[in-house]
Amino acid sequence: MKEYDIAIVGGGGAGLTAAVYAARARRSTVVFERLVTGGQIATTDIVENFPGFPEGVNGFDLAQLMLKQAEKFGAEMVYEGVESLERTEDSRFRLETASGAWDRMRSTRPLKSRCPGATFSLAATAAPRAANRPAKPAATDSL
Ligand SMILES: Cc1cc2nc3c(=O)[nH]c(=O)nc-3n(C[C@H](O)[C@H](O)[C@H](O)COP(=O)(O)OP(=O)(O)OC[C@H]3O[C@@H](n4cnc5c(N)ncnc54)[C@H](O)[C@@H]3O)c2cc1C
Repeated sequence: MKEYDIAIVGGGGAGLTAAVYAARARRSTVVFERLVTGGQIATTDIVENFPGFPEGVNGFDLAQLMLKQAEKFGAEMVYEGVESLERTEDSRFRLETASGAWDRMRSTRPLKSRCPGATFSLAATAAPRAANRPAKPAATDSL
């Protein structure tokens, strides 16, 4: 079972920022991301209000830069959704990721990550949800 000082759930801007700070402070850091590096910002073409980019920056490129910065200090990415988080009897946390197959495929990086130091960060702020209504109004709606 691999152990980290700090586990961050969500690899969007918030999670990757947390990862930069945590890894730069020399804490062993893992970021769990279930979809795409950078989260929502990676889905937009131009970001014009991020400091340091007077001409704007492509959202995907910005996300990759955030990732590069976090990894430079040693943060590790795991592209798995976190399904559960539990506090263990010894006051640590145990995270369980979504895919059992990932555990079996990579026995050196087990499914359950243990986080001594009792620290984790939840940066999984948002996820798109399908609107609970029909894409087009029904014929009767326009009457
Ligand atoms: C099209 C679009 C354009 C935008 N343009 C701008 C802009 O120009 N300027 C601006 O300031 N803001 C913009 N925003 C808003 C900005 O993207 C968000 O404010 C920002 O992404 C929030 O970052 P976050 O890290 O808090 O959350 P998110 O970006 O939502 O990241 C959360 C991450 O957590 C992951 N996650 C969730 N649950 C789990 C789990 N159980 N296990 C593992 N991972 C999980 C998600 O997959 C996601 O990647 C835009 C948003 C969109 C959608």
